[in-house]
Amino acid sequence: MTNKKAFKQACKFIVGGVNSPVRAFSSVGSNPLFIDKGKGAFISDIEGKSYIDFVQSWGPLLFGHCDKDITKACEKALKKGTSFGAPTLLETQLAKLVLENFKHLDKIRFVSSGTEATMSAIRLARGFTQRDKILKFEGCYHGHSDSLLVSAGSGLATFNTPSSLGVLKDLAKHTLVASYNDIKSVEALFDTHKDIACVIIEPIAGNMGLVPAKAKFLENLAELCKKHGTLLIFDEVMSGFRASLKGSFGINGIKADLVTFGKVIGGGLPAAAFAGRAEIMDLLSPLGGVYQAGTLSGNPLAMAAGIASLKKAMKDKMLYTKLGELGARLMKGFKEGANLKNIALQTTCIGSMFGFFFNENEVLNYQDALKSNLKLFAKFHQAMLKKGVYLACSQFEIGFICDKMDKKLIDEVSEKAYESFKSL
Ligand code: PLP
Repeated sequence: MTNKKAFKQACKFIVGGVNSPVRAFSSVGSNPLFIDKGKGAFISDIEGKSYIDFVQSWGPLLFGHCDKDITKACEKALKKGTSFGAPTLLETQLAKLVLENFKHLDKIRFVSSGTEATMSAIRLARGFTQRDKILKFEGCYHGHSDSLLVSAGSGLATFNTPSSLGVLKDLAKHTLVASYNDIKSVEALFDTHKDIACVIIEPIAGNMGLVPAKAKFLENLAELCKKHGTLLIFDEVMSGFRASLKGSFGINGIKADLVTFGKVIGGGLPAAAFAGRAEIMDLLSPLGGVYQAGTLSGNPLAMAAGIASLKKAMKDKMLYTKLGELGARLMKGFKEGANLKNIALQTTCIGSMFGFFFNENEVLNYQDALKSNLKLFAKFHQAMLKKGVYLACSQFEIGFICDKMDKKLIDEVSEKAYESFKSL
């Protein structure tokens, strides 16, 4: 069957043909590929065409597709049973592995998605502080819970508005929105609102393209939160065990009160988590009054995949250096290729995460990112896809290096990028 036919058929039964909107390829004006299988750095579609995969399931696959150790761990767990809804030793094992890398966090709770992790962390912060308001940043994505689907109003005096139908205006008014990397915009909100329960931020933003927060900005943010008795939540669902073994914390040492995890900690299966100091976490049910639960939370298959993934990441002391070098090499290749064709390209790379903007200027926040040339991105994406390179299908998403890639492969992709820039 062709991808086109498969999509048409899917559209009959599945809303928009996809189970998550970004998969629809609509921002690059084409149809999605239907994937048959993956191996290492490669995926192949149902037409039998192979692609170098820089999406890696949107981040979880640090070791590529069908890694033998992760597969083995899953097979072992699978044979014992897929789910019990009761504690297993695997949960404690993965908890220890995550917390070992974040010594300032005492306790963790596992959930099944990043959305659940951030939603629950926010409820916990509201319960702990007994305050209603939360503060987020324009361009950061933390999943699709109601409180987080909110856009900034036109000024401080106006209420923010839901960014999705179905989100209550009454709820949206409790979500404040500041500008990323701009501490003054945060100070202004703290001056006006005395009841902010938490500030949630992607310390390395990967949902407006790759935009790392400046260390000084994060430092000031942590100080402001401390001063106002507001909890700071670092959403490391994407950057945890990706940007470095210890995520953003491993890069600048700045500590948050609560941290959310996802993607890599599930090794490609549905697992996510939130963690924090004991005095905060112990407010969760069954110890405390903040309710949170999940039938499949801590699922043994997901725990087994996560354990195998983190053990591998922690064992190879050179892993993140190696992945970072490959990412930097790829971005250097892209930049040089674009420059040769007089195309303005901004590139960034942190650990195994990379991003590029068709933009004249450095991107520091969402408004900067919006100035990127989306038409050029769409053309580039299509050209690369034709050459067998599978990149995230939006200018506002990022790319991921996996451990199965090497310099030779990266240089091949840089060459294809140059050819693609030439064709724009
Ligand atoms: N937080 C961040 C930073 C994310 O990138 C994502 C998803 O991409 C989420 C939360 C939501 O995670 P999930 O898609 O597992 O619900």
